[in-house]
Amino acid sequence: GNVVFWMRMHDLRIHDSRALALASDLAAKRRKASAGSGGNLIVLHILSPGDFKAHDRGPRRIDFLLRALKQLEAGFNKLDIPLVTLLVHPRTTIPDRVLELCKEWGATELCANIEYEVDELWRDLRVIKKAREQGVHVSMLHDSCIVPPGKVLTGNGKPYSVFSPWNRKWTEVLSSDLSLIEASPDPEPNPKSIRTDAKLKGLFERKGDGYGVPDEIAGFECHDKEYMAKLWPVTDDAPFKVLDSFMTGKGGQTVLDSSAIEQGKGKVEANSKESRLGRYAIGRNLVSENGTSRISPYLAAGLVSARECIRRTKAITKRLTVGRDSGAAMWNTEIAFRDFYAHVLAAWPKVSMGHAFIPKYENVRWERDEKSLEAWKEGKTGYPIVDAAQRQCLKQGYMHNRGRMISAMFLTKHLLQDWRLGEKHFSIHFVDQDQASNNGGWQWSASTGTDPQPYFRIFNPLSQSEKSDPEGDYIRYWVPELKGVKGKAIHDPFNRLTKAEFKKLGYPEPIVEHKSARERALRRYKNPGDE
Ligand code: FAD
Repeated sequence: GNVVFWMRMHDLRIHDSRALALASDLAAKRRKASAGSGGNLIVLHILSPGDFKAHDRGPRRIDFLLRALKQLEAGFNKLDIPLVTLLVHPRTTIPDRVLELCKEWGATELCANIEYEVDELWRDLRVIKKAREQGVHVSMLHDSCIVPPGKVLTGNGKPYSVFSPWNRKWTEVLSSDLSLIEASPDPEPNPKSIRTDAKLKGLFERKGDGYGVPDEIAGFECHDKEYMAKLWPVTDDAPFKVLDSFMTGKGGQTVLDSSAIEQGKGKVEANSKESRLGRYAIGRNLVSENGTSRISPYLAAGLVSARECIRRTKAITKRLTVGRDSGAAMWNTEIAFRDFYAHVLAAWPKVSMGHAFIPKYENVRWERDEKSLEAWKEGKTGYPIVDAAQRQCLKQGYMHNRGRMISAMFLTKHLLQDWRLGEKHFSIHFVDQDQASNNGGWQWSASTGTDPQPYFRIFNPLSQSEKSDPEGDYIRYWVPELKGVKGKAIHDPFNRLTKAEFKKLGYPEPIVEHKSARERALRRYKNPGDE
């Protein structure tokens, strides 16, 4: 029999994929056992608009996916492995379609990396049941996290809901089993005979009837494809160049509109004080710096494994670098954060179903105010740092983590809007859209989640602005109305300029006043159901 590797939205790569490596190994074993016949590896990708919609994935995330698939098609082709892409609608028919294809291709093995979202788990259970009836053996592997969900538990075998003890345990598990960050072997090429096989040869150029990688998908047309391709290029080595640029590129420059690769211009010694990685403890807090890696779109779509990030850091620092005592350690702790939120999502499925983690906050009486929601979305709240971050989101499909936190907290606390509305907005616009991290970030900011920011600690957007954009360069770049505002007034032009000066800017007045908004939020969170 042949072997199908079902590649998903989160594992779009050839190098270092657990299930792809297993599929290749199984195919090789079959070839050996059957003296050359069978044992071909076929890669399948299902495009499911129904899933995109259900997860609020937006045009940029889908465009990134399609660009990655085109690149992968060529990469697999070199290995004589067909990558078959099929558009399936409605999504409830996916299990049937996958098993029909297994039958058509004479496949007796199906391998995939696990997706932890609820819908995807239910879908996979249906696949496993049907496969069993059809005599197809299914292998579902942990791949996207460094330490698989379910492996970081308290002494009582329970999942952690607080990051610090979770992180200590995560570090312990990883330190005692470094195979967790070992790379999986690359897949072996198929035998050349697949190119003449009556049943399979057509798969290399199967097009039409929903087959093939489309340029776009109806309902998810990306209006700024070229800009996205410049900012977030997809080539075989793009994610590695992004990592190199972070680890050995010069930090500190303000490069606000360049590609993820160009962010670290000028080679310096890896992890030195000048490099972006070495400076990460500073850069991670400054929205105006090129201080973070910008690897997130590549990690979210799986063009590079999270293991690779830890391995690369380890190669530079010569040890597993975790904790908080250096830029490299802090950066690896952020990679751990990605695991943490995936573990939370896997342990408490309710968080991926729109529920607050803390039941008390399930029904906060949110202000349902369309106008202020729209102002926030468009970056017209009158709070320069919030507006800059929101406009960066609209333009680049990306925001600095500090910008995400400031903006999310402003929406949920100052405007008292339901965090789910903000979660959806980010999800639709982000090229790095990832349900676990997005939900985790929103519930942290809204104080409704695991290990949340306590509700009474509400970011002051003005002091956050001074701290994270000291010179105001980030604001001037993204909010052109404020380009000419000098000095500290950039953070709070409404209160620091004269009325006449402010009026001339053509920039909106603050839609809420910080102090009273803060007090309203405190009252509401104390008694979530009433005023
Ligand atoms: P770096 O600082 O270089 O970090 C490296 C990697 O570590 C990131 O690429 C990411 O994979 C991981 N990471 C860093 N910070 C976090 C974090 N707080 N939580 C989880 N993982 C983290 N990240 C996404 O990938 N997709 C999202 O949809 C997303 N939505 C968010 C929404 C909110 C409200 C908040 C507060 C955070 C969100 N994050 C999300 C997390 C974080 O902001 C981004 O991962 C980070 O800004 C990406 O930039 P970077 O790659 O330069 O990060």
